[in-house]
Amino acid sequence: MSRAERLVLDPIGCRGHGVCAELLPERITLDEWGFPLLAPGDLPAGLHRSARRAVAACPARALDLDVERH
Ligand code: SF4
Repeated sequence: MSRAERLVLDPIGCRGHGVCAELLPERITLDEWGFPLLAPGDLPAGLHRSARRAVAACPARALDLDVERH
């Protein structure tokens, strides 16, 4: 069984701290107002640990990981 992980953002809860983009620049950039833009699609295997760190560091708990099992 394989797992696909995908970042999901709660745009209402996000307060634009930008911590997530600092911790996971490979998948998260900030728009001109400092709000995150997530790269589409599943996380590459090598980024799962960094993604978990970014989720844990979000002070607004607005970032999460969706896990899909195939
Ligand atoms: S760390 Fe959380 S609150 Fe800050 S920009 Fe990222 S998702 Fe939004």
